[in-house]
Amino acid sequence: MSADCIFCKIVNGTIPSKKIYEDDDVIAFNDINPSAKVHFLIVPKVHIDSLATCEPQHQSLLGKMLLLAPKLANEQGLAGFKTLINTGVDGGQEVFHIHLHVLGGGIKLPKA
Ligand code: AMP
Ligand code: ZN
Repeated sequence: MSADCIFCKIVNGTIPSKKIYEDDDVIAFNDINPSAKVHFLIVPKVHIDSLATCEPQHQSLLGKMLLLAPKLANEQGLAGFKTLINTGVDGGQEVFHIHLHVLGGGIKLPKA
């Protein structure tokens, strides 16, 4: 938990979110400013600044986040989807609590 982290506050319920999934390790909720018809974020409950500060101990957590993407995308009615992890200011990261974007349906992002 990082005191001034917006996603830690969503994890502990201080800030509301449109939650679509939760278990002991991760939470997923709709992005407040969606770039597609469906746009949600998969967020670990533990505070990790970014992909660049992940360590070997986070390997299974990162794998869990990735494996959740197709499951939740399917539940949201998506036949296909895009995943994205912005890392660092130069990578477009704005919230420094690692998260996996999952987008589908009318994606308003340049094709990578
Ligand atoms: P990034 O640029 O990868 O750090 O993405 C941060 C994402 O968090 C952006 O797409 C924001 O729209 C989203 N976001 C910021 N605050 C909230 C919030 N309170 N609830 C849901 N999504 C949020
Ligand atoms: Zn945090």
